[in-house]
Amino acid sequence: MAGPKHVVVIGAGPGGLTAAMILAHRGFRVSVFEAQNRVGGRNGELALGPYRFDIGPTFLMLKRILEEVIREAGGDPSALPCRPLHPMYRLVFQNQNLNVNSDPDAMTAEIARVFPGRENRYASFMKRETARFRRLYPCLQKSYHRFATFFHPDFLLAIPHLALGRSLFDVTYGCFGDENLALAFTFQSKYLGMSPWECPGVFAMIPYIEHAFGIEHPVGGLCRISDFMAELARKNGAALHLQKPVRRILLRNGRAVRVQLEEGETIPADYLVLNADFGHAVTHLFEPETLRKYTPARLQRMRLSCSTFMLYLGVEGEFHEPHHQIVFARDYRKHVNSVFHSPKLPEDISFYVRNASATDPTLAPPGCSALYVLVPVPNQRMGIPWEEQKFIFREQVLDAIASRTSYGNLRPHIRAEAIITPSDWENQFHVYKGATFNLAHTINQMLYFRPRNQFEECDSLYLAGGGTHPGSGLPTIYESGRIAANLISRRARVPFKSANLEV
Ligand SMILES: Cc1cc2nc3c(=O)[nH]c(=O)nc-3n(C[C@H](O)[C@H](O)[C@H](O)COP(=O)(O)OP(=O)(O)OC[C@H]3O[C@@H](n4cnc5c(N)ncnc54)[C@H](O)[C@@H]3O)c2cc1C
Repeated sequence: MAGPKHVVVIGAGPGGLTAAMILAHRGFRVSVFEAQNRVGGRNGELALGPYRFDIGPTFLMLKRILEEVIREAGGDPSALPCRPLHPMYRLVFQNQNLNVNSDPDAMTAEIARVFPGRENRYASFMKRETARFRRLYPCLQKSYHRFATFFHPDFLLAIPHLALGRSLFDVTYGCFGDENLALAFTFQSKYLGMSPWECPGVFAMIPYIEHAFGIEHPVGGLCRISDFMAELARKNGAALHLQKPVRRILLRNGRAVRVQLEEGETIPADYLVLNADFGHAVTHLFEPETLRKYTPARLQRMRLSCSTFMLYLGVEGEFHEPHHQIVFARDYRKHVNSVFHSPKLPEDISFYVRNASATDPTLAPPGCSALYVLVPVPNQRMGIPWEEQKFIFREQVLDAIASRTSYGNLRPHIRAEAIITPSDWENQFHVYKGATFNLAHTINQMLYFRPRNQFEECDSLYLAGGGTHPGSGLPTIYESGRIAANLISRRARVPFKSANLEV
């Protein structure tokens, strides 16, 4: 009798781990090959002595999707303690600060304080976005490996909510009628690495999700989610192989049949799940000229997200600063334009500072803080010479923190430090062009037009992660892992229960 089908997962990022833990729970033999010596990918941990940082994601939204996939893998989500954040974050404009809260009364009162007269617009925004979310989220949960998905009744009913031809800024400004207030519901396009003036209006869903369901902080950081998933995958019988980079995906008659590891060994598979960064994978993991659609020339034409300059600071001292704080450039529109269209680093920067150790003392020693600073910057297509710019830009960022927040001059207090530049994202983290939020989410790179979960270029290969459908953000990445697992289960005729049966 044939044994269970063998699934090889390339990469132990959030998408790969989701697929691995679910498939292992359904009885597949699962082997995960991860290039790094730790799990999590961009959602892994960076430790600097006693200071602990998340490398990438710091906002956990729509936690119920995480809970669903954990349950579908036979796990208990309550074993991963999380704390809701109240307020969720502070926004700093040139002359105004707004504390953003998911409690509707507190939020309405805060808008009345900072933008008097506009507070009633909040309820109408939430009402309209509730309708959009209810119609559109189920559409994101489907697989678009067939064009016919566009004719599903759910999709047809969602069409009026797509805000076609309108940018995210158009949608929010249309509702709030004040530029800064609109930005408070628009800057979230940065989570997709896009400009609010170019990001499709449909993504007003993101601020809605924050306000409707809140933001949570898992104790120990968001990297604990990756550890938790890896542990659950192991418990379900998956084998996780760290420091085992895959060199090639080998095809026979158009079917992905095995992987070759960097060290030479080849591993046969019935099915493959590809979680490595999409642009990196198609340019490095296939024999040249194997792929007909995603050729280097095509990739060159695809739109990418911006990149990020990261500072991780272990600092002596504690700060009464918010868990999440976003500081807008004085001229935000000009700043955004320069991030996406200029080969020069912006002088007037926007940045984000996370002071998670104020909420979660596991992240820094007593009396100290673990500060995470993210600055949106151009991706590697703009050719910025980071080896020359890195330390100059660091000084600019520390100056901006000193002048625009209450942290003051952090320099004398820094005890541990790490920097990640776009060039590091590209060369150390294998992120194509250092575009940290993956392929841009333009309408022509979404749904059926995004690289599909059942990869269109070869048989038996499934995609999970930010570069495939539904997109780059933890909840949608978990969805991608679940869609891949469901497509494989259906193909292998393995019965399963899932909150998302519509693949
Ligand atoms: C700075 C930053 C901040 C972010 N903030 C948020 C946030 O607040 N909220 C949110 O929801 N999302 C956020 N994101 C976006 C997204 O959630 C993360 O990037 C997420 O980690 C992407 O998951 P993934 O599954 O696509 O794979 P990745 O995290 O990219 O993992 C892919 C894995 O594949 C491995 N790999 C690559 N090549 C090979 C190979 N040849 N062989 C074996 N293994 C290989 C890599 O080592 C890696 O471990 C952020 C991203 C970044 C970078």
